[in-house]
Amino acid sequence: MTVHERRRRILEAGIGLGFTRPRVARVGPVDRREFYERWIAEGRAGDMRFLLHHRRARVDPHTRYPWARSLVSAFVPHEPPPPPIDWRREMRGRIAAYAYGPDYHDVIARGLDAWRDEIARIAPGCRTAVFVDTGAVFEHEWAARAGVGWTGRHTLTLNEERGSWGFLAEVLLDLEIEPDDAAIDRCGTCDRCVAACPTAAIEDGYRLDPRRCISYLTIEHKGSIDPPLRPLLGAWVFGCDLCQEPCPWNGGERGRDRTELSPRLADLLAMDDDAFDRAYGTTALRRSGRIRVARNAAVALGNGGQPGAVPILAAAIVSHDAPLVRAHAAWAMGTLPDGGGPGGRRALDAALRDPDEAVRAESTAALAGGG
Ligand code: SF4
Ligand code: SF4
Repeated sequence: MTVHERRRRILEAGIGLGFTRPRVARVGPVDRREFYERWIAEGRAGDMRFLLHHRRARVDPHTRYPWARSLVSAFVPHEPPPPPIDWRREMRGRIAAYAYGPDYHDVIARGLDAWRDEIARIAPGCRTAVFVDTGAVFEHEWAARAGVGWTGRHTLTLNEERGSWGFLAEVLLDLEIEPDDAAIDRCGTCDRCVAACPTAAIEDGYRLDPRRCISYLTIEHKGSIDPPLRPLLGAWVFGCDLCQEPCPWNGGERGRDRTELSPRLADLLAMDDDAFDRAYGTTALRRSGRIRVARNAAVALGNGGQPGAVPILAAAIVSHDAPLVRAHAAWAMGTLPDGGGPGGRRALDAALRDPDEAVRAESTAALAGGG
C-alpha cells in the first residue's frame, strides 16, 4: 500500500465511524506555548484541575509520546440547541445543546477505539493514542493546525461546513502521514460572540476567562458562585450556548424541540441521589453532579423572578440536604419581588438558625435586601 493510499484509508475509516473532517498535522510543540503557560499561571484554570495535568505534554506531545509522528484531529457534530422557550414563565432551566443524551466522552471514546482497531488493520503494528476533551492534548490548537477548523473569537473550534456545534477528537500515530494545511481564521471583523456573552468572559476575543464563563461556573466550579455573577447566569443549569448561537457560521440553526434540555427547575431541586442517577446518570451532567445542578437551579429560579418560585425555594432553603444549595436558594429568594413575600421571609427567618454559616449569612443578606 502506498503512503498516500494508507492516509486515505485511515481518514476514510474515521469518516465511516462518524468523525467528520478528519485532518492531519505533524506533531511538534504547539505555537501558543507561552500563552498557555501564562494562562495557567494567572489561575484561569480555576477548579479545572485536569488542565494542570500533563502540562508539558499539552504544549509538546513528544514529552509524553516520544514515538508520535502525526496527529489526526476530527470534528464530531452534535445537534444544535432546540428552539427557545419562555424559561422564566415556565420556570425551566437550560442545558447546553451538547450535554444531554449518553455522555459524549463515552460515545466518542468508543468510536475512537473502533477507529484505532481499523488503523491497526490498515497499518499493522502502528502505535496510537486517542483523546477526547480531557486528555493531554491541546485540542483546539491541533484542530487549527490540522485544518479541521479555526479557533473563533469565543475560543471554540468552528469550520465552514459545520459551524461550531460539535466536539473534537484526536488520534496520535507513530506514522508519518502527509499533513493538511492549517485552518484559515474566517472570523474577520465579526464579534457577535463577544457581544452575546452575558458575563464578558470573552475578554478581547480569542481570550476567555473561564472563571467568568457560565459553562465553567455551572459545570466545573465547585463552591459558591460569586453573587455579582449569579444574575448573569440566567436559566443555565449546565453549560451555556449563548456565544455560539449568533455565530454566522452556525446559520441560526436550531435542533429538535427537546424538553430534556429544559428541565423543570423544581424537579432539579427536589432530586435525591437516586432520582438524579436515573435522570442523568448516563449523561454529561453526572460530571458536575446533583448538588451543583441543584445550586444552579436555585440561582435560575431567582433569575426567573416568578411568584411560583417562592414555595419551591422555601422548600429548598429549609430542607435541601446540601448547604451549598440552601445558601443559593436563600440568595434566590432575596432576589424575588418583595423577597418572596411572607412565605419567603418565613423560610429565610428559619434559615437564620441553619447549622451552616454560609446559609445563615445568605439568609441575613436576603432579609436585608442585599441578595
Ligand atoms: S459559554 Fe456563555 S458565558 Fe461562556 S463565553 Fe460563551 S457566552 Fe460567555
Ligand atoms: S460569532 Fe463571529 S467572531 Fe465569534 S466565532 Fe463566530 S464568526 Fe468568529
